[in-house]
Amino acid sequence: MKIEQIINKCKELSFDLDFSYAKNWKQEKPNRILVGFMPVYFPRELVHAANGLAIGILGSGDRKQIIKGDAFYQSYICHIPRGIIELALDGNLDGIDGFIFPSICDVIRNLSGMFKVLKKGAFIKYLDYPQNFSDKTGGTFYINELKHVLSEITKINGAEVTDEMLWNSICLYNKNRELIEEIYDIKQQYPWRLSMEDLYHVLRAGMVMPVEEHNRILEEVLDSINANIGEPMDKIRVVVTGAFCEQPPIGLIKTIEMAGCYIIDDDFLSGSRWIQGNITTDDSNDPLEAISRAYLTRSRFSASVYSIGDKKGKSLVSLARRRRADGIIFAAPSFCDPALFDAPMLQKECDGSDLRYISFQYSENTGQYKVIKEQVGAFSDSIKLWEEPVINN
Ligand code: SF4
Repeated sequence: MKIEQIINKCKELSFDLDFSYAKNWKQEKPNRILVGFMPVYFPRELVHAANGLAIGILGSGDRKQIIKGDAFYQSYICHIPRGIIELALDGNLDGIDGFIFPSICDVIRNLSGMFKVLKKGAFIKYLDYPQNFSDKTGGTFYINELKHVLSEITKINGAEVTDEMLWNSICLYNKNRELIEEIYDIKQQYPWRLSMEDLYHVLRAGMVMPVEEHNRILEEVLDSINANIGEPMDKIRVVVTGAFCEQPPIGLIKTIEMAGCYIIDDDFLSGSRWIQGNITTDDSNDPLEAISRAYLTRSRFSASVYSIGDKKGKSLVSLARRRRADGIIFAAPSFCDPALFDAPMLQKECDGSDLRYISFQYSENTGQYKVIKEQVGAFSDSIKLWEEPVINN
C-alpha cells in the first residue's frame, strides 16, 4: 500500500467514533474481547495476552454534538468526559466488553462512577496507579491491580493467560514503542518529511487496531520517511506539552504547523509513548513484575503522575534540548487541573534555562483558531528574527 493510502486509512480509523474496525475484528473469531481504556496510559499488553484488543477512548473530539453529556457535568471542567458520556449514551461504545479508567484526576474517577450508574460493559475498573515508586510498596500494589484487571478480562472470555503469552505481548508492544520513537527521531532531524497531522493520525489509529497490524503500518511509515522527501521550510521547531489527556482538535495541530512551527515532540496520545524504552524482558521471571517495574522506573513525565521534587520541569527542558527545539508551546485543555497546576512550575524551569514559550488553552471541540494562529505566528517570528538559530546536524 502507498504511504498516502496508509495515512488515509489511519485518518478514517482514528476518528471512527463507532470503533467499527475493532468491532469487526472481534467478530472474526470466537472469544475475542474489546476493552476500552480512557487516557492516559494503560498497559495494553494485558488485554492482548487475553485474546483481546485494548481500544483508546479519547473523547469525541469535534466530531459529535454534545447534548446529553452536558447534563452530566458542571460547566467548569474539561470537555472530554462529556464527549465520552455522549458516546456511551448514543450506543457508540456498545460491543465493548469492559472499561478501564486509569487514575488521572477526579474527572476520570467520576466518569468511572457514571459508567457504573449507566451499567456499561461487563466490568468497569478504576485503575489506581502507585504513588510510591519502590518495587516493594508501589510495585506490589500495582501488580495486584494488574492481576485484578486480568481476572476481570478473563472472566468474560475464559482465556487462560500464561507467562509466555504475556511476554509475547510485551515484545510486540516493545516493538511498537521502538518504531514510534524511531519515527520521532527522524522527524526531529527532518520534520518536513512527515507532518504532525499525519503522524497524529498514524498513532491514533494504533489505539483501535491490533498491535501486529499497527507495527506493520509504522514500518511502512518509517520506510517512507527514511527517503529524502520534501523540502525544509523556514519554521521554528517546538515541543508541545500539556495535551496528554483531552486531545487537541486536528485543526489546532494543523494551525500550529501552518503558523510557522514544526512540532518535533509532544505529549499527544502519550499512552502509546508512556514507557520510555523497552519493558525489559531479561531481568525478571514474572511479566507482570516487568510491566510494573517499567511503570515505576521508565514512565514519561506527565502532569498526570506524581513526581517527587521538581523533576518534571527538568525533564521538559532536557527533552527540548535533546530535540533541539527552539521553543515550547504549553497547550492545555481548558479546566484541566493537572496540566494547568503544573504549567507554572514547568515554565519557571524554562525561564531559568532561557527557553522561549507561549501558552494557550483549547478544548477538543474548539473550532476557531484565528487567535491561536496569530499567537503562534508571532512566537515563531520572534524566534526567527531575534534568536540564535538552533543548528540542526
Ligand atoms: S483533561 Fe485534565 S482534567 Fe480533564 S480528564 Fe483529562 S486530566 Fe482530568
